[in-house]
Amino acid sequence: MNLTTLFNPKSIAVIGASADKNKLGYSLLVNVLANKKRKIYPINPTAKNILRLPCYPSVKVVKGAIDLALIAVPADIVSIVLKECGEKKIPNVVIITAGFKEAGDEGLKREQEIKSIAEKYKINIIGPNCLGIMNVQSKLNASFGGNLPSAGGLAFISQSGAVGTSTLDWAIKEKIGFSKFISLGNEAGLTENDFLEYLGNDKDTTAILMYLEAITDGKKFVELAKKITQKKPIVVLKAGKTERGLKAVSSHTGSLAPSDKIFEVACRQSGIISLNSLSEVFGVVKLFQSGITKPIKDLVVLTNGGGPSIVACDLIESSKHLNLMEISSVTKNKLRQVLPSTASVNNPVDIIGDALMDRYKQSLDILCADKKVGGIIVMLTPQKMTEIEETAKILKNYKNKKPITAVFIGGSAMDEAKKIFIQEKIANYTCPSKVIEALDYLHTGTDQKKRQSAKSSKIGQQKSLDFLQSRQLLKTAGINLTGIFIEKKLDLTEKLKNIKYPIAMKVVSDQVLHKSDAGGVKVNIKNLAEAVKAWDEIVKKIQQNVKKAKIDGMVVQTMASGKEVIIGMLRDKTFGPVIIFGLGGIFVEILQDSSMRLAPVSESEAKKMILEIKASPFLTGVRGQKPVNIKALAKIITAVSVLAIKNPEIQEIDLNPVMVNETSAEVVDWRIINP
Ligand code: ADP
Ligand code: MG
Repeated sequence: MNLTTLFNPKSIAVIGASADKNKLGYSLLVNVLANKKRKIYPINPTAKNILRLPCYPSVKVVKGAIDLALIAVPADIVSIVLKECGEKKIPNVVIITAGFKEAGDEGLKREQEIKSIAEKYKINIIGPNCLGIMNVQSKLNASFGGNLPSAGGLAFISQSGAVGTSTLDWAIKEKIGFSKFISLGNEAGLTENDFLEYLGNDKDTTAILMYLEAITDGKKFVELAKKITQKKPIVVLKAGKTERGLKAVSSHTGSLAPSDKIFEVACRQSGIISLNSLSEVFGVVKLFQSGITKPIKDLVVLTNGGGPSIVACDLIESSKHLNLMEISSVTKNKLRQVLPSTASVNNPVDIIGDALMDRYKQSLDILCADKKVGGIIVMLTPQKMTEIEETAKILKNYKNKKPITAVFIGGSAMDEAKKIFIQEKIANYTCPSKVIEALDYLHTGTDQKKRQSAKSSKIGQQKSLDFLQSRQLLKTAGINLTGIFIEKKLDLTEKLKNIKYPIAMKVVSDQVLHKSDAGGVKVNIKNLAEAVKAWDEIVKKIQQNVKKAKIDGMVVQTMASGKEVIIGMLRDKTFGPVIIFGLGGIFVEILQDSSMRLAPVSESEAKKMILEIKASPFLTGVRGQKPVNIKALAKIITAVSVLAIKNPEIQEIDLNPVMVNETSAEVVDWRIINP
């Protein structure tokens, strides 16, 4: 999709242009007129001139070509003017007007109508019900928002116009530089993925910020994000994260994967930084603005005040990814030579309350020369002699040597310093927690390695799967299931001839979902006589507990030894198959201790999944226990992920439990759920 003329139009028509200051058509016209270089055509059938420009009754009577049209006419005539745009061969149309699918059935019909017009004439549609777009570098403000922010590398895609305007307003105050702004509206035409793709290749954009309420095509989104985050960071603020849609679940897997958690996993796997609030977004955006886009681990805190720096150090130590580094003895010695004896050259480097600008300067010279130092947080508290502005000014000299952030703590005493920071694009914060939080978040976007594509064979299409069909399907996917199926009690003697005791026996019946709850499972059966007895007992229990249950037979398995784990798959409607791993029993359900990945999951990624759960020491060996065969588990996880991709009709897979010990992993119970 080519969006070049959308962001760099030579000529713009404002359809519904107005001289009435209260109308959208007025704001749009004023905003596009701010750049005098473009040809602007106000369109309005009832006016001759608007803002001293000649006005046209329709785009069709305009002589020259039009690259972009902005529509701000009432909803019921949008389709008429859009059709005229099509006839005029206008490639890009931003529909500002609201009253479409967000406004009930009538609106939905209107939206479908404009969609089909757009398809017919091959128009790129943005909106309807949106604020518009901006290209800061080319001074295009095709929106009814306020002024353009200053130019810079941050692109912003927003599904909410209001979040868009308030963020831009904050950004103007902080002089955060933007490349593009896109208000998506209802996404009748172009979606967040179209813009993501465009911005990924846009040389003016160095980082992408997205505010999302819903994702149009999760798989495409992940695919694009994975590529883009290799080159530039993507930050996503998703609304409604806490909303836990309670859905009817027929397996453990279902209850373990609320959609917000899946979204988090999707972000992590695609290298996206996912944030919870606008304030977190602002913190991270400030880093981007100062050129810090890559994660930094080893930090030094340079300070003139003990207390606040201790707070900062505690926060660093308790962060997930940051390290309060050990400063080398060489660097420490250099610092000792320039600093007073009362100063501390450990980390934090405390240059004491009476420090003037010079002491900061000398320390920064030394710290910046140390290759091991990843980044420096410069803290300052105001004492009588503190040279606040002078100190603020010198930071720019070090900005290109090391990632530097400033935490100048105080009230109005810091106003001037803040202006200097904004001017010099130095990430500055009023308290240490904000910068540490932001630095920590930078790491969440990089948890990505090339995933080797998992291999497996294509499995034939299956319809509704019963217990035995499921077993067959899993077997062909390379997942080994033990056990033999016995249809009649009479066959027991023959079928159990070569079995290794002790065994487990479990009922096979379409009506019985939770077998042991219904009395359908017997374990530790030691011989044939016990097996015959177990058969009768199971039949009796099932008849008692499950009305009208039809018993197809029993599955008999040699008792597996080891620890119980769960491997599951749940198909998410946005992101496709999600693979879930956890320990069996209370761990996974009560402690919510599970890990997740989007499919496909390579074996090495599967190992990470296994080691990621809190209870993983239980598997890797605690108190002299031998570790279980992690590789065998990983193989099953990979196979489940591939099975799910190859068989889109499967809704859920529940391998519960898989018994794993030092040598092997065995799936002893399974369920596959189709729609
Ligand atoms: P359901 O989940 O339908 O109740 P399962 O087949 O999972 O039935 O059996 C219930 C429990 O019985 C398992 O969680 C496991 O503890 C035990 N069990 C079942 N089959 C075996 C087996 N082959 N080896 C060891 N334990 C087993
Ligand atoms: Mg089970």
